[in-house]
Amino acid sequence: MSRYLDETHRRRTFAIISHPDAGKTTVTEKLLLYGRAIQQAGTVKGRKSDRHATSDWMALEKQRGISVTSAVMQFPYKERIINLLDTPGHEDFSEDTYRVLTAVDSALMVIDSAKGVEERTIKLMDVCRLRDTPILTFINKLDREGREPIELMDEVEKVLGIECAPITWPIGMGKGFKGVYHLYNQSIHLFSATHGGKIQSGEVIQGLDNPRLEEVLGSSAADELREEIELVRGASHEFNIDAFLAGKLSPVFFGSAINNFGIEELLDYFVEIAPPPQSHETRQRIVEPEEEKFTGFVFKIQANMDPQHRDRVAFLRVCSGTYEKGMKARQVRIGKDVKLANAITFMASEREHVETAYPGDIIGLHNHGTIQIGDTFTQGEELKFTGIPNFAPELFRRVRLRDPMKNKALQKGLDQLSEEGASQVFRPLNNNDIIVGAVGILQFDVVAFRLKEEYNVECSFEAVNVNTARWVTAEDEKKLAEFRKKASDNLALDAAGSLTYLAPTRVNLDLTIERWPDIAFHATREH
Ligand code: GDP
Repeated sequence: MSRYLDETHRRRTFAIISHPDAGKTTVTEKLLLYGRAIQQAGTVKGRKSDRHATSDWMALEKQRGISVTSAVMQFPYKERIINLLDTPGHEDFSEDTYRVLTAVDSALMVIDSAKGVEERTIKLMDVCRLRDTPILTFINKLDREGREPIELMDEVEKVLGIECAPITWPIGMGKGFKGVYHLYNQSIHLFSATHGGKIQSGEVIQGLDNPRLEEVLGSSAADELREEIELVRGASHEFNIDAFLAGKLSPVFFGSAINNFGIEELLDYFVEIAPPPQSHETRQRIVEPEEEKFTGFVFKIQANMDPQHRDRVAFLRVCSGTYEKGMKARQVRIGKDVKLANAITFMASEREHVETAYPGDIIGLHNHGTIQIGDTFTQGEELKFTGIPNFAPELFRRVRLRDPMKNKALQKGLDQLSEEGASQVFRPLNNNDIIVGAVGILQFDVVAFRLKEEYNVECSFEAVNVNTARWVTAEDEKKLAEFRKKASDNLALDAAGSLTYLAPTRVNLDLTIERWPDIAFHATREH
């Protein structure tokens, strides 16, 4: 029992959120480097050259086998076991990214010091806020001319609505970047550019009064630094662990990921303050990670790119108890006990089968179409984890089938892809159209590609007069029936059979909401 608690409490499960190009991949790589999970950076994902030509997904498809393992990376660091979940972040951005955030206990936000807070970061932060996820911030690319650190923190506070507590403070930037000062252990870590992939520890000077500081910076720059630090201490928030854990305050670090600089400070602090596995809500009760019985939920389903295993993998977050190889668990939605043999676990270097997984860990279950996103697994208890959302898509296309004889395969393919969260499908009540909804534009390419590869169905997409979708419900069955009748031209069923209003314009949506006060319009639907 106490081993179980120890193992649970040493888990730290998190994801990185950022706008494309801020440096998420580079930071990931350097974290793995410092976690000794890889020997040399530049080995995690060889996808850079492909990036602008095609989506990550297709690039990964080309390098069969790596996508499933790179979705979660586990490595030990100091006393902790770290689980880092990848959030697909480029052109193929999809709802997957959002749902990964339901499976983490904290998140690291990476910001480009020249660009500040960008649009994608805002969206991802909104999702983190749904669960008050604690956020750490890394301001990257200090080796380039960027914006003033004070101004950047100001922007984070104003735009993202979270207080900032600098832990390190940069000394200069761009060509004049000299290093960072650690506000809490008073050490100065001097910067030296290292584009190589190996760990480098630059010189560390202890204390702002250290004469070595004068030698390195010159006496006027050293004085300026002392003044600036005093100012920063006065003007910024002090780190407060409770505010951090409540998602209200973010510790901020500065550095240059490509130069392996500032990453160690970040990781050392992360393992000290990041929360261990947290409790999870179910419809019935709250599940605590210390509970002995196994529970978990599926937050992502992904096609397995390994041609040897041409099935799909369901990613399950363990919420309580232990997974033991070969154990039986109740798949609550279908009310069956199933054997969880050969789950995949994710030690960073290679894919391997482990015998045991603890709360905070992610396991990959082989799925032959019976597992859906949002599924709960238990040891017999009737539970349903909540908070794993479907987001209303922002882009819509009508499907055009080349060969009408393939209609059945098309329907099946679209339903399965929508269970995976690869896209969403809507079937209007009043006509035979099939409408696909997505959050990112490349999702359509992925859907077309996979329909062809996996279901042997060729189709194309055409424009459709839908601007946005809302799932509709009502307390009063009669009102709902009336709405269903009157608004049927704009109503559709999604893959799960939930009633959805497809609005041709925002204005139409607003008017409809106004006209039907007894109907609730939801921008997210829970799995
Ligand atoms: P992602 O799109 O967020 O995964 O970002 P990447 O890690 O791929 O980085 C985007 C670009 O920024 C790449 O060309 C990196 O080499 C570059 N980059 C990452 N970190 C740094 C840094 O600290 N300094 C500079 N100058 N460039 C960086």
